[in-house]
Amino acid sequence: MCGIVGYVGTRRVVPILLEGLRRLEYRGYDSAGLVYHFENQLVRYRAKGKLVNLEKVVDEHIGVASSTGLGHTRWATHGAPTENNAHPHTDCTGELVVVHNGIIENYSALKKELTGKGHTFTSETDTEVLAHLIEDCLQGDLVAAVREALARVEGSYAIGVLWAKEPELLVAARNHSPLVMGVSSDACYIASDIPALLPYTRDVIFP
Ligand code: GLU
Repeated sequence: MCGIVGYVGTRRVVPILLEGLRRLEYRGYDSAGLVYHFENQLVRYRAKGKLVNLEKVVDEHIGVASSTGLGHTRWATHGAPTENNAHPHTDCTGELVVVHNGIIENYSALKKELTGKGHTFTSETDTEVLAHLIEDCLQGDLVAAVREALARVEGSYAIGVLWAKEPELLVAARNHSPLVMGVSSDACYIASDIPALLPYTRDVIFP
């Protein structure tokens, strides 16, 4: 188990991500990370251990003027619980990020194929294949690329994906792993469980 929180709206995103992750702490984790859009780039922070370590790293950016982001608490299945293996994971360009809960069963074959195509991996996780696979499928339409990539994936997943070129788009998908969506008048949310959404909305969708 682990935790995913995502937000696209009008409020400052970092406090929403951290509060959401705090509300998912009961699920257990060994590291944490978050990413937000800022000036056409994705800015990522990760830390080993408790959420308080991530809070220290993010510290002075808590009030950053960004209103799109993803947060993750990881329970390592593939690769040690290090900062480098913590989510979000990126594609080769750093312009696409993925958070993932679950296990990609065929990650080894996909990694071999993608490495053969020139993709460079920087972590030991199964998750990172998702970032490179989506990158490989991406031709301007992120939703189409995620669909195409997931058609090749075996295993369990809840994922959130952001792309630097689409600041107001958060793509999410799930297969077996839990993920809920929330909506309010000015925002959309994703989370591994309802408690992360309760401060903001009671309007919850179960995809
Ligand atoms: N399998 C992934 C990893 O080891 C995700 C683990 C999780 O669900 O937190 O990074």
